[in-house]
Order: sequence, then C-alpha cells, then structure tokens
Amino acid sequence: MSSTLNPCTVSTSDLGSLWDELRDGLPVERELACRLIRATDGELPELLTAAMAVKERFHPGLITYSRKVFLPLTNLCRDYCGYCIFRRDPADAGAHTMTAEEVLAVATAGEKLGCREALFSLGDKPELEFPEMRAILRRLGYKSTLHYLEAMCELVLRETSLLPHANPGLMSAGWVRRLGAVCPSLGLMLETTSRALLHPGAAHNRAPDKAPARRLRTIEEAGKQGIPFTTGLLVGIGETPEDRVDTLLAIRELDRRYRHIQEVIVQNFRVKPAIPMASWPEPSRGEMLRTVAVARLVLGKMNIQAPPNLSSPGYDVLLSAGINDWGGVSPLTPDFINPEAPWPHLAELERRTQAAGQQLKHRLCVYPEFVARVAARPGFMPERLRAVADEHGLARAA
Ligand code: SF4
Repeated sequence: MSSTLNPCTVSTSDLGSLWDELRDGLPVERELACRLIRATDGELPELLTAAMAVKERFHPGLITYSRKVFLPLTNLCRDYCGYCIFRRDPADAGAHTMTAEEVLAVATAGEKLGCREALFSLGDKPELEFPEMRAILRRLGYKSTLHYLEAMCELVLRETSLLPHANPGLMSAGWVRRLGAVCPSLGLMLETTSRALLHPGAAHNRAPDKAPARRLRTIEEAGKQGIPFTTGLLVGIGETPEDRVDTLLAIRELDRRYRHIQEVIVQNFRVKPAIPMASWPEPSRGEMLRTVAVARLVLGKMNIQAPPNLSSPGYDVLLSAGINDWGGVSPLTPDFINPEAPWPHLAELERRTQAAGQQLKHRLCVYPEFVARVAARPGFMPERLRAVADEHGLARAA
C-alpha cells in the first residue's frame, strides 16, 4: 500500500456539499479520506463537527478509560526504532527484565488503587539477538520471552483481580492462541502501512519486526481466532497524511473481515533528547485533530483512542475530533514508552471530560462490546473477567 499511487481528485469545492452527508455517516473511502486529512484550517471546524456527530451516534455522551498498571516486562529488544527511548541493549544502563516478585508487587499495589488492567509492554523477542537474554530466561526457567510473559499473565490472573493485556510484538498463530487464553485482549500497533519507513535513514530501518506485512499477519491471526485486538497508528514518524489514511483503511479492512478490532489508537510521536529522531518535528495539534477526525469518519462505529498524556496541555481538544476513549491511565506507574509525559490525574481527566459534555466511565482492558464474547469461553481467565465486569461490560465498581 503506498500513499503516492492515487493522488486525490476530490477538489476543494467538492467538500461544501459533503459535510451534511459526512455528519450523517457517509461511508468514507480512500479518495475522500485523503482529501479530508488535508482539510484547510478553514475547513477544520466542519471536519471536527462531522467527526463528532458520528462519534455521538456511536457512544452518545460517553468516554471510557482503563485504570491500569504498566509492566515493562523487559526493555531488551532486538529492534531499533528511531523514535524509541524504551529499548535497551543488555549492557545499557537501565536494561532490565522484571522478576515475578516485581510483577506481583506492582500489580498488587495497582489493585489497591482500583486498577483493573495489567498492561504488559515489552521488547520484541530479545533472546533472538542477545545471549544475555537467553541466560536470563534460562535462570528464570523459561524457553523464551513469550513463555515468560505467559507465566506472568497467569500469575497476575491468579494472584490479583487485574486482567492482563499483552503487547509483546509480533506473534505467531500459536502464540496468539496461548496468550489469548490468559489475556482477554491482545495488542500490536500497526503504526503504519508505509514500507518507505523501512528504508535507510527512516524510522523503521533497523526494525525488522515493523515490516507492515508481518504486523498485518499477526493482527489477522487474532481475527481468525476471535481475540479482541488493540492496534493503531503512530503519527509523525515520517509517513505522509495519505499513509495515515492507508493505515486506517488496512485496519478497517481487517475488522470488516473478522470484527475483532476493539480499539484503534491514534498516537502522536513525541520527541525525546536521546533518540535517533531527536531533531525530528513532532506532529502539530492540527495534524492530530485531522487524523483523529478522519479516523472517526473512516472507522465509524469503532473505538478510537488518543493518549491524553501525549497531548498535554490541552489534551481535551481531542474530544472534539471524535475519540471515545482515553486509553490506559495509571495512578501508579509512569508511561515507560514516553517517560517525559506523565498521565493526567484521574480527577482532572474526569473534570475535563465532563466539561466537554461527556461522562467518563472506567472500562476493562477488553472493551464492553467484546466482554460477553470472552466471558462466555471456558477456563480461568473468562472466570476472572466475569468477576470484575458489570452488566454493561464496564469495570465493576470496587
Ligand atoms: S518501539 Fe518497540 S519494537 Fe521498536 S525498538 Fe522500541 S521496544 Fe523495540
């Protein structure tokens, strides 16, 4: 999929007659989406109004979030994404693989603060690259990082009321099945469908696991197995606005086939001093608003999330572009992927959400629409899910 193959032919004047239809839910295909994502400043208010109208037909007056702890199981990673400050080589300062005791201590502390999600984020298969990680895993008694992750998800399930959600990078069909048995939902950011980012000097040049086709395969596998799946795009890493549209369309296509995409994250690149892309410009507020609004118009009745901590201050403006979720917010642990960006205080998040005329509700790691599907399965994980879900599929009040 390439951004430059089909230049947009919807002219500026064409949009005037389309705003009413967009507000009414006109299906948006590539050409129109490419035109909308380049909306002028003068057109932006109409674009936001249309996106908000579609969101309000989906979840009127409702915004959700997940109260979570962030568990960076290992920050060793075999990839070298140009924007990543999380990853480490084994000899780097701060390289760390959490012990079971550490995992449990964080999960238990989060439980006391009302958290219901244990988000496991980790580097992609570091043992394939680093003998040091193979030695760590041997010491811990596991064959691979994914075997260790599976055991830690089981530990959290057994010992706490938190539900695990794992983001371990690419997964085979077998690993989607195994992790889907211990996690109500799984995740993998598609980030972009642009292969140009794999070229020398681009963000994914040293990240073989970021090849779009490989990521699409993992997301599709989750669809075949009916696992609720979180994915999304990363905005501002060298892709064009048309690439953003293509990424959204690829996600929509997979969801149309399998109806398993529970959440689409629109995440903005944030610059950090110690990354290869340290001098890269961040996407502007206008780019984010246009991308979120076009995501809403393209995806219609799908859950769209944008992280509030990456758009502070003034993150609440994202509500006007049609998001219906703030994602995971932690009262305990930092955002290890963006450590410079603290989560908003939950009371402040609620205040701003209400000021925008929306009610903030606490969801689980699996979205309400998918809770019944997972809860109906046999086994221990669905049993734990049933114990913490209320009748609407949201988090049961503690
Ligand atoms: S973004 Fe993920 S895959 Fe890329 S280097 Fe960082 S941890 Fe590894």
